[in-house]
Amino acid sequence: MRKSFASYAFGCRVNEAEKILIDNKLLSKGYIYNEENPEIFIINSCAVTSKAEHEARQFINQTRRKFPQTKIIVTGCAATQWVKTNQIINKVDQMIVNTDKNNIVQLIEQLDWLLPDRIVSRLTPRNDNPNISKPINSHTYNNSRKNLFSQDKFTNSGRYIVKIQDGCNRFCSYCIVPYLRGKPITRKIYEIIDEINEIGDRAKEIILTGINTEFFGVGNQETLPKLLDEILNKTKIERLSLGSIHPWSINKEFINWYKENTGNSRLVHFFHIPIQSGSDKILQLMNRGYTSQEIMNKLIQIHKINPSALIGTDIIVGFPEESDKEFNETYEFLSISPISKFHIFRYSPRIGTKAIQIEKQAGLVSPRDKIFRSKKLTKLGQQKYQEFINSLVGKSGKSHLLRGFQNNVQAALFINQIPLSVKVNQKRLEGTIENVIIESITNNHVIASEKQV
Ligand code: SF4
Repeated sequence: MRKSFASYAFGCRVNEAEKILIDNKLLSKGYIYNEENPEIFIINSCAVTSKAEHEARQFINQTRRKFPQTKIIVTGCAATQWVKTNQIINKVDQMIVNTDKNNIVQLIEQLDWLLPDRIVSRLTPRNDNPNISKPINSHTYNNSRKNLFSQDKFTNSGRYIVKIQDGCNRFCSYCIVPYLRGKPITRKIYEIIDEINEIGDRAKEIILTGINTEFFGVGNQETLPKLLDEILNKTKIERLSLGSIHPWSINKEFINWYKENTGNSRLVHFFHIPIQSGSDKILQLMNRGYTSQEIMNKLIQIHKINPSALIGTDIIVGFPEESDKEFNETYEFLSISPISKFHIFRYSPRIGTKAIQIEKQAGLVSPRDKIFRSKKLTKLGQQKYQEFINSLVGKSGKSHLLRGFQNNVQAALFINQIPLSVKVNQKRLEGTIENVIIESITNNHVIASEKQV
């Protein structure tokens, strides 16, 4: 009889892409997706902060309470961390570490579900083959590239996430990811093109995602701009976006490429550039490898090329040695930068990272200060976002219609990924790409109407 399963991903878009890849593989093997009463529940966990790890534990407990008989399989960064540090997580039937994730379907199929003992997948050596889609045991899985695409959480809206690389060896001092995902591996351009063409008309938008885009193409003489060019030239995809672009990927070649392509209406003009701090001292302690001025220059160049491009970022507050002085530098940096969307994180120590040593010497920033700083930056972010959306009134561009529809207003994403409320005569098919003009801003909602061309 065919087994049923359900799945859930925490954390970044890469995790989401992997979850759906696993779903697709299981579906292609005849498994049935059933959230009501699954026989197997797969959780793709995140360990980027201690909060993320805590949430994964809570979710495991909830899942076990809800489905006492279900086999719970946990993979991802938190699972890898727990296996590496010999932590016993009750209520889990199997942990699968990141390096075994490509083989998760075979591992599930090989499980002897009758065994009462909990089984933990071994920590295998990293698969160093740069072809990310190639399975570790190619003899047991020979159709891996077929299902590499995955539809993201806007189900049926035609937005697909495509993973372009995995791993990182930048070793930012606070980050546990390089220890859990291993060294960088990159996919080749032709594979990504094949994958997008294979998805065909089902995809209206492709979101390229990676742990650190800096490592895309390394060793293959391929670069991110080359990938973007080839996707635009060799596929019919209507919208192409970058999930995140990391500061080191914004080099001369990328800036020149954006200058040449800024008028391309198939491009989504949204750049999520995680910079983490605007203080040189903190950037250095974080081992980010750039100064605030260097990153500011890059941001200004993007903004000059296209002032309507939305620039977002991640910022960590309360990193060890961040006094009021360093925090104010970050505040000042963000105030004058062209960044309009902030994601604020409060620093949390991750065992095994270099920041733990810094913290031992400098001590921790108090929780009160972290809360105060995060609130202050959140407020600044809200102001800047408001100013940015106000500047869009009168602008027109292609938008991606989503599912939400009420009172002749349909949810959509603008050409720079700003959420819109589009006035329509009747509900349009989600996934439709429509030319719209922004009319007004009401209570933070961006109101648009269809524009005839
Ligand atoms: S670039 Fe830094 S923060 Fe990002 S995954 Fe690599 S080490 Fe972590």
